[in-house]
This record gives sequence, C-alpha cells and structure tokens, in this order.
Amino acid sequence: MLTYELDRVEKIQRARIERRFSDREAPVPPGFGGENMRFFYLDAQLVVETKKRIAIFLAAVNLFVLGASAAAGYFLAGRTLRPIEEMVNEQNRFVSDASHELRTPLTALKSEIEINLRNKKLTLNEARRLLASNLEEVDDLQQLSDRLIKLSLYQKENKNGLVIEEVSLSSIIEQAIRKIKTLAKNKNIAILKNIKECKFKGDEPSLIELFAILLDNAIKYSSDNAEVAISSKKSDGCLLVSVSDRGIGIAKSKIPNLFKRFYRADESRVKSEMSGYGLGLSIAKEIVERHKGQISVQSELNKGSIFTVQIPVRQTI
Ligand code: ADP
Repeated sequence: MLTYELDRVEKIQRARIERRFSDREAPVPPGFGGENMRFFYLDAQLVVETKKRIAIFLAAVNLFVLGASAAAGYFLAGRTLRPIEEMVNEQNRFVSDASHELRTPLTALKSEIEINLRNKKLTLNEARRLLASNLEEVDDLQQLSDRLIKLSLYQKENKNGLVIEEVSLSSIIEQAIRKIKTLAKNKNIAILKNIKECKFKGDEPSLIELFAILLDNAIKYSSDNAEVAISSKKSDGCLLVSVSDRGIGIAKSKIPNLFKRFYRADESRVKSEMSGYGLGLSIAKEIVERHKGQISVQSELNKGSIFTVQIPVRQTI
C-alpha cells in the first residue's frame, strides 16, 4: 500500500509538471525561482495529505494485526492447553482413586493388628488366623500395586516394555488358561476352547495378560459349576477372540464406563464377594489399543457377557 501511495503521488506530480512545462505561458510565481523551485514541483498539501493517509492506513493495519493475533493466540492457547488440562484432571482423579483403594486394605490390616495386639490372652490359633487374614490383605495390596504398575506401563505412548514379534494365538490362549486354572478349579468351572491357530505380530506377555484378565472375570462373575468359553475366528484381516460366560451379566447403563480405571459395575454386590479393583478391563483395553485393536462387550443382566477382542493381523505394529 505504501508503494502504491508513493506511485500515486509520483504520477500526479509528473502529470502536473508536464502540464506546466507544456504551458509556455505559465508564469513562475514570485519567490519560487532557484532553490525554491522544488517546492513548485512538490505539492506541499499533497505530501501532507499522503502522509496522513499512510499513517491512518498503517494504524488500521497494525490494529487489525494486533487484534487478529490476540484472538488467534487466545483461541490456539485454549486448544493447546485443553488436552493438558484434561491430562492433569485425569492424573488427579487417578491419584485420588489409587490412594482410596490403597487406604481400604491398609486400614483393615492396621485395625486387625491393633485389636489383636491389645488382646493379652491371644492364643496361637488366633494369632495364626490373624496372620492368614493379614496375608490376604497383603495379597490384595500386591495385586493392586502390580495392576497399577502394568497400567502405567501399557499407558506409555511409546512401546517401552512391549516386544513385538510373531506370536501364536493358541500358545497365548494356552498360557492365559494356565494362569487362571486354579480359580476355575476352585469354582469347578469348565473352560471350553475353540481356537483356530493364527500367527500374527504382537507382544506375547501382554496378550497372555489380556486373555487372562477376560477369562478371570468370566470365572469371577459366574456361579460355581458354570461354563466359560473362549473362541476365535478371522474376519477381514482381523483376529476376533471372544470370551463368553453365563454369569451375572452387566446392566446396559454400566457398559460405557466398564473400561474406565477403578470402575466396578456393581459395588454393593461384587465388592464383598469378589476381589478386584476395577483395573482389569482398563489394562485389557490398553493392551488391545497397543495392538491397534478394539475391545467390545455384549452383556445382559443375569444372562451373561461376551467380551470380544479384535486385533488387525495383517498390518505391522
Ligand atoms: P475387577 O477387578 O473389579 O473385576 P475389571 O476392570 O476387570 O475389574 O472389571 C470392571 C467391572 O466390570 C467389574 O467390577 C464387574 O462389575 C464388571 N465385569 C467385568 N467382567 C465381567 C463379566 N464377565 N461379567 C459380569 N461383570 C463383569
């Protein structure tokens, strides 16, 4: 715009000068000879006018740039900070949930020990019972800390801790079943297996963990002498593995929250009967996502549940 303005002045001036020179009769105004001649060519009024126009134009442009950058800065800062804010909130929620879960068994442990220490006539049998109960609480705490460590490991954005190599589905399922065998035996639950062998790229220990979590839940939330099934099929370059049970099932309204950390579908019903911290399914979800897959659930209250894991087997991870 500045160049344009200067060009405009120059053009106007040239036109004026040419007009004056072509007019031979043009009288030189008094006082405009010699050095003062340039004032004759440069119209002082026009210069003042141009300066004013340039100043107004620059002020307007600067104001616009300032306003636009302030608005864009505000908008972009909000967008950039939102995920950080969400992450901090999530982190705070996690710390408070984890400390709450840690406090419950610790309080039980402490009060049991205190009560028994006050008993001056504590017999050997009572002391043994106390130690056995303490051991249970310690086992729970150990399970919680193991799960927290695993969750943080799988949540890392990079693939630290995961060794991606060719794995065999039947071997993974075999090892997962081995992990939950005792639990199934204690409840006399049969595990029906219908697995088609498939080789794909993945991290074996985490996949064993994934299916052990699903089988463990299926057994935990089924009644004694029930059946739990695990089956697989391939569809559209994806491996589909389903774990189904005919257990207590999950209400529809609870399903959207199921994979959230520390979420338990029915606190009152399950807490006292079954151990668990509501971390299993969130770990399962992290493992599936590390393998670029998806996990879904179909369930009906008092009828049973089917958890399906879908993992792409064609692409490299
Ligand atoms: P938990 O350690 O409590 O089992 P999970 O994250 O594995 O934690 O599961 C979260 C909740 O989902 C459980 O508390 C339970 O209410 C529900 N759930 C998971 N699997 C099943 C299942 N197979 N049948 C019924 N409810 C289930």
